[in-house]
Amino acid sequence: MTVAAEFPAQIPAPLLAGRLLAWYDRHRRRLPWRAEPGEEVDPYRVWLSEIMLQQTTVATVGPYFQRFTERWPTVEALAAADLDQVLSAWAGLGYYARARNLHRCAVAVASQYGGRFPDSEAGLKALPGIGDYTAAAIAAIAYDRPATILDGNVERVIARLRLVGDPLPGSKPALKRLAAEITPDIRPGDYAQAIMDLGATVCTPRSPKCLTCPWSDACAARVAGVAGDLPRKTPKKTKPTRRGTCFFLLGGDGAVLLRRRPESGLLGGMQEVPSSPWHETDAAPGDLDHHAPVAGIDWAELPGAVRHTFTHFHLELAVRSARLPSLPPVAGARWWPIERLGEAALPTVMAKVVRHAMAHLL
Ligand code: SF4
Repeated sequence: MTVAAEFPAQIPAPLLAGRLLAWYDRHRRRLPWRAEPGEEVDPYRVWLSEIMLQQTTVATVGPYFQRFTERWPTVEALAAADLDQVLSAWAGLGYYARARNLHRCAVAVASQYGGRFPDSEAGLKALPGIGDYTAAAIAAIAYDRPATILDGNVERVIARLRLVGDPLPGSKPALKRLAAEITPDIRPGDYAQAIMDLGATVCTPRSPKCLTCPWSDACAARVAGVAGDLPRKTPKKTKPTRRGTCFFLLGGDGAVLLRRRPESGLLGGMQEVPSSPWHETDAAPGDLDHHAPVAGIDWAELPGAVRHTFTHFHLELAVRSARLPSLPPVAGARWWPIERLGEAALPTVMAKVVRHAMAHLL
């Protein structure tokens, strides 16, 4: 007896979309920014969540989203906020250029668009901080436009469904084209959220739950037995390690010297414990003195180091400390009472530096 090789069922795109929507109606995730069935979608909440979710997990974003929407319930309220307040509320979420663009975008929507986000991908992409993916997500979710979204979840689902063996990121255009073939005109906003949910809860990176998948019989990777191997990725270069030294200066009865980083570049506009530049080569000790915020002080090197990983490099920071009896003015820097450090927009790496220093000094 011959056994026919198994082939995935040839299921027309509208039927695939319909099946996924039916699955979504039963299994959709409840998320703080997502409108419940029958509820009106608020483009402000969709936009805010999509910006926060870039490079950041749903679990991390949840409390930030809650705090932002309680404090600034509308785009006009966010536009009226001080950038410093926004940066401070964003502290810990990382990728701080997003926070600055978030504020610029809110100002643009409030002042140029009467508080209404544009409802097309092209209109959305004209705003600060909104790229291809975010424009498609907002157009689909907030305005029910048949825009094709392609985030990590969707890439994985489509690579498996259509057995795309070429590695990411080179395969993105092909994946987008294949994803667009299935994107329906009916309920495209729900469909966009459905395919993201499928990737997040069923078609997971390891051990996809194919038995419960609404696309199981159509899935070429499942049939070929390679679902867990896709999508392939071009190996990343190993991250270099950069090193620097922070200068933790305590003054008076308990204030810490902080300064603001330049607006452009990594952690732009955020507060920092004054630091030497971060390089892959070690700085000569004499050079370090030159970067101290106050000259003529005896700096003591604290034991250990602070480690942090950014997208493109690891960072290792030595910490030097000193105390001053008073709070002399320091150009470009400001004294922060220790009990008010929570109000400084300290990015995660600098919060680690402060904790490290305080553990040794207080
Ligand atoms: Fe993913 Fe499995 Fe569904 Fe294919 S059948 S889309 S691999 S969960």
